[in-house]
Amino acid sequence: MNASTESRKILLVEDDERIRLEVLDSLQAAGFTVSVAATLAESQEKVQSDMDLILLDLGLPDGDGLDLCRSLRASGSDIPIILLTARDAPEQRVRGLDVGADDYVVKPFHMPELVARIRGLFRRSGGKSSTGMLRTDSLWLDPQARTVGRDEQRLELKPREFDLLHFMMSNPGRAWTRDQLIERVWGKSFDGDARTVDLHIARLRSKIEKDPSDPRYVETVWGVGYRFQEES
Ligand code: CA
Repeated sequence: MNASTESRKILLVEDDERIRLEVLDSLQAAGFTVSVAATLAESQEKVQSDMDLILLDLGLPDGDGLDLCRSLRASGSDIPIILLTARDAPEQRVRGLDVGADDYVVKPFHMPELVARIRGLFRRSGGKSSTGMLRTDSLWLDPQARTVGRDEQRLELKPREFDLLHFMMSNPGRAWTRDQLIERVWGKSFDGDARTVDLHIARLRSKIEKDPSDPRYVETVWGVGYRFQEES
């Protein structure tokens, strides 16, 4: 999908005026249409009009930004949401991703990074067939044949390792919590714990990475979980 950025409408929810103006300027310069809200109440009102993405600060004067996230997901909305989170609060990120946010940036963030994350989300929400071949650098995965390899070399994965890799390769560039991975890969009824995920990631790395101690594909996101790297 290649919709022009001009048509994309972003709701920016941030009570810090300095950050709000800086982000507003940069997003407009990048060609987006931006609506702003400084409170939770204002954001709940503005999100009713047609928005394509939400940038969401969590600490708002009249409440927690996660409440907006939660209520949107509860009402069935799948609008992309990027959280603007504080550096010293990794647990905030985990909670945010667990209640349905798509991504986060850590303050103070660089505007080019935020714009890149926004474009990445738009690209991915543009709908990519999950039946086609997936490839990142020399690693490839064929969902139909359920085969994986690196260059010419076939790699032998257990079924769950394959499912985990398939899911992560289909969603590159975003961080997943262990609970999210369990829900998406093992299913809601699975009652194992987070260590199951760590164990499978370790096995997966030992098979797909050239140097498992310095992983190129599956990155650990400190305090959050794991992320599959986008193509370099
Ligand atoms: Ca704030």
